[in-house]
Amino acid sequence: MKIKKRIANFYTSLTAISVFVFMGTIFLVVNYNLDKRFHTYLLEKARFVSEQLSMEDMESEKFDYDKVMKRFSSVFTATEDTIVDYDNLLTDNVLSEYMSDNQVKRLKNAGHVHTRHKSKYATALYLPNNGDAKVVLITAYNDYGGNAHNIFLKIMISVFITSVVVIYFAGEVFATNILKPFRSVLRQIRRIRSTNLNERIVTDHTCEEVEELAQALNKMISQLDIAFESQKNFISHASHELNNPMTAILGECDIILSKERSSEEYRGAIQRISTETERLESLIKDLFVLAKSDMEIMNYHLETYNAGEFIQNMCDEINYKEKSERLVFSCHCDANIMVNNHLFSIAVGNILDNACKYSTEKKVYVTIASAPDGNNISISVRDNGIGIPKEELSKIFQSFYRAHNTRSYSGQGIGLALSQKIIKSYNGTIDVKSEEGEGTEFIITLATC
Ligand code: ATP
Ligand code: MG
Repeated sequence: MKIKKRIANFYTSLTAISVFVFMGTIFLVVNYNLDKRFHTYLLEKARFVSEQLSMEDMESEKFDYDKVMKRFSSVFTATEDTIVDYDNLLTDNVLSEYMSDNQVKRLKNAGHVHTRHKSKYATALYLPNNGDAKVVLITAYNDYGGNAHNIFLKIMISVFITSVVVIYFAGEVFATNILKPFRSVLRQIRRIRSTNLNERIVTDHTCEEVEELAQALNKMISQLDIAFESQKNFISHASHELNNPMTAILGECDIILSKERSSEEYRGAIQRISTETERLESLIKDLFVLAKSDMEIMNYHLETYNAGEFIQNMCDEINYKEKSERLVFSCHCDANIMVNNHLFSIAVGNILDNACKYSTEKKVYVTIASAPDGNNISISVRDNGIGIPKEELSKIFQSFYRAHNTRSYSGQGIGLALSQKIIKSYNGTIDVKSEEGEGTEFIITLATC
């Protein structure tokens, strides 16, 4: 159901219930007072009749009964006066139509009882009469009250129906006005496609909630725009980087196949093709990890490792491969970390590889220490290499970004993006401090376990 209809229905039901309760209360109060007033008349008449009775007893003509009757003639219709002995009450058929046993018992104590049978009203008055107790029962139809009751009921029903109808349409108009700015936002959102993510939702600033909604949507569109743009760049860079080794391999094949070659030349060509294929393979592996979500990275099998031992093994391996002592390792804590062996090796390996690559031949210092809060460790990798230009420091974590001073060094600009993605998925951070021409320090901070 549309919100507009819901608002209209809600207002209508709310109003219907309130009007119903309000009018119902008035109706009951008025009805009760009409009944009460009529019973008062009946009681008054009963008193006149009882006085008449006592006058008859005194054989006096002081009260004129006809006069009394005239006084009530406009009020009562089909009135009947019945006078019975109290002791015969229970057996009297006429009285039992109007009064229950309890009412009869109450009559003696209360002096009078008001009652009703179908639409006929009755009032019974008890007269002690020196041991010969009597009951005067006056019955009559309440035409005046009945008419007033019917008119009142008709007025209330018409007021009720009119107010429900009016409120329903007023509710619809109100809902249409309230939802107008939301409709405008909806129309604008419907127009936004992947091709026009640069467009933004515009509001007339009249409704605070709509303004907030538009701001949130605009923020989301901006993020989508950035993500979409960076994905497009990523794909174009990735295809470019994949194309380079492919071109080299194809070129090598073309040259070698263009004429008959010596076995030496074939071996050399195959060697170059193998190198390019390895480059291609490593690039594809990196891209594969880069394309994964944080959640997918977290789903890789995690194990607990001693941070010092883990990093020292990596340094030893590089030193062994390079047949040198370039990496100088020191550890000042004994902490465990929970990581995936393969992914964490890629993350730290890229930073160690950069430090060695961009500081040709110079020593690289790898230091592990506890962070001041005690719950984290910091892994520092410091070199005295070419450094990173200040204005490019903020860009080096973007995929395929390479600073301008690295033209003479090989690389695709994927390593740091990959390291950051892996460390971030472990809720860690990578910070960098660098001076161009002086050196660079990368600091990985990671939670211990
Ligand atoms: P690869 O994908 O092979 O790792 P890369 O080393 O150029 O290529 P990243 O590791 O992502 O790419 O590094 C991005 C850029 O950050 C580098 O191109 C370089 O400009 C800069 N950089 C990273 N580490 C250092 C460092 N230790 N010293 C100087 N510059 C660095
Ligand atoms: Mg690198």
